[in-house]
Amino acid sequence: MYEIVKHIDFCFGHRLIDYQGKCNQPHGHNGRVEIRLASDTLDEMGMVADFRDVRHSIQAWIDEYLDHRMILRRDDPLVEAIQALGQHAYLIDDNPTTENLARLVFEQTRALGFPVIAVTLWETPDSHATYAPPPVGAPANGQPAGKEATPART
Ligand SMILES: [Zn+2]
Repeated sequence: MYEIVKHIDFCFGHRLIDYQGKCNQPHGHNGRVEIRLASDTLDEMGMVADFRDVRHSIQAWIDEYLDHRMILRRDDPLVEAIQALGQHAYLIDDNPTTENLARLVFEQTRALGFPVIAVTLWETPDSHATYAPPPVGAPANGQPAGKEATPART
């Protein structure tokens, strides 16, 4: 098994809905995603994937849709206010927790055709969450594999 890792830094804002704590206020992070790609075999160049291709596709997607954006749950009342100001927010169906944003980047990376096995998102230098799907054939328990508890939101 070969594995490569790409880090992408970006800035984002979010807030949590139906959450008691200061993370229900709009706030921002200097986030970092770690994208892990793996393959049993290498391509004709001897690579799992070309880092340049990762930068051109995944980083371009993050730059266009997530960087310097508010990432909000679709039904957040803040969405209407932001759109009324002519600003853009990235909307998701779930609360924009670190865990859900890691899964979002994972699913986008897979949709772009990369052999992704896990995505970790650092919300702060000491708080991160990882999403990795359960292995094929593993019993589903409703919890993403590799999800790490984060005791306090920031
Ligand atoms: Zn936060």
